[in-house]
Amino acid sequence: MIQTVRGTRDILPGDMPLWHRVEDVAREAFRRYGFHEIRTPIFEKTELFARGVGEATDIVHKEMYTFVDRARADSEGESLTLRPENTASVVRAYIQHKIFADKSPGELTKLYYIGPMFRRERPQAGRYRQFYQIGVEVMGSSDDPAIEAEVIEMLDWFLKELKITNTTLLINSVGEPASRAAYLETLREAIRPKLDQLCADCHHRFETNALRVFDCKVESCQAIVKDLPVITDSLDEASRAHFEQFKAHLDARGIAYTINPRMVRGLDYYTRTAFEIIGHDGLGAQNTVVGGGRYDGLSETLGGPPTKGFGFAFGLDRMVMSLPDGEVEGLRAADAPDVFIVFLGEAARQHSFNLARDLRQAGVAVAIEFEDRKMKKAMAAAAKAKARYALIIGDNEVATGKYGLKNLQTGEQESLSLEEIISKLN
Ligand code: ATP
Ligand code: MG
Repeated sequence: MIQTVRGTRDILPGDMPLWHRVEDVAREAFRRYGFHEIRTPIFEKTELFARGVGEATDIVHKEMYTFVDRARADSEGESLTLRPENTASVVRAYIQHKIFADKSPGELTKLYYIGPMFRRERPQAGRYRQFYQIGVEVMGSSDDPAIEAEVIEMLDWFLKELKITNTTLLINSVGEPASRAAYLETLREAIRPKLDQLCADCHHRFETNALRVFDCKVESCQAIVKDLPVITDSLDEASRAHFEQFKAHLDARGIAYTINPRMVRGLDYYTRTAFEIIGHDGLGAQNTVVGGGRYDGLSETLGGPPTKGFGFAFGLDRMVMSLPDGEVEGLRAADAPDVFIVFLGEAARQHSFNLARDLRQAGVAVAIEFEDRKMKKAMAAAAKAKARYALIIGDNEVATGKYGLKNLQTGEQESLSLEEIISKLN
């Protein structure tokens, strides 16, 4: 028997109400805050991620699903990659379609996406090789820290609406790439004497982008990393002022945060503000639910016009795992049919088909099974389907046009016409 590929999984119908709930609340947040959806391809040229995410990142260095496309008569097979994240793709689309062109000065482009991402990581609870992200990107000429605070305010509303409490917002500033050079030299000097105690990946990071060592999840590396000089202590003046304003905007909105000077995030393109939201319930070690930050200059890296950018992505898989148990029960129950039709005999069966259609057209969720069964069996099926009501139809009901509507919670039963049933259920 053929099974799913390691690190991938089926999301089964029983969990779908939870996924839909997270997606629906996200879309509602985006509507309220003025974001518009964009859908980009699931595979792109490898170069997009190599340039846009950065060669020094774990993602590009070791996690991408890259393949050579079949060669055509007129060209060599080109290197393609299943998208490991979506910021590079969205910025590519922004440039390719000149989305900025019809904007008035100061107008922002606010986009969101929902979809699968692919990374060749070690599968664990909350870590998959195909996982799902929902994310936003704000692009334009402004790098006002109020933009960042507003996006975080939106996330705050979103989490509260989902009843996901007990989360922590971590913030940091990673400064400007241009003024990072001196700090990186200091950092490398501090790492060098301890290099032999660091993992192989950290050796690679040391060579390519030393800042990334802070991102290492290996425990023995963490022990060394905690004593290294942090970037927050050597920020350039403009980045420091930006960070102060960002914090003031959060304070003004009453949003609590913790500054973590060692949080540098996994992507090379971040400048200045970086943030994460950590969840605490039911997530175990994979407890980062949201990651985001500012990426001024990414557009230029990809051949576009000078553009400021800020965005985040959250893991849909982990967000679903963070939903509180009470919510989960309620969502599953809400997914059940309103009415389960129980018919007795052939005439009632034929009549039920029309009745089911009329109810469905009136907006009622109807379950009907096609087999003629004894009352007891049919009622058991209604209970198994977790229907709110059973609609009982026999020869008598067909003749009078009054049907038995039984509340399966209370056991109470009424005799009602189709119109009465519709108005009761809506
Ligand atoms: P982590 O530190 O957990 O590896 P990351 O820094 O690689 O996360 P990002 O690239 O910032 O994560 O992606 C944003 C979010 O996407 C993460 O916070 C997480 O919720 C989710 N995510 C990332 N990788 C995976 C994965 N392999 N499986 C499930 N969710 C993931
Ligand atoms: Mg990762």
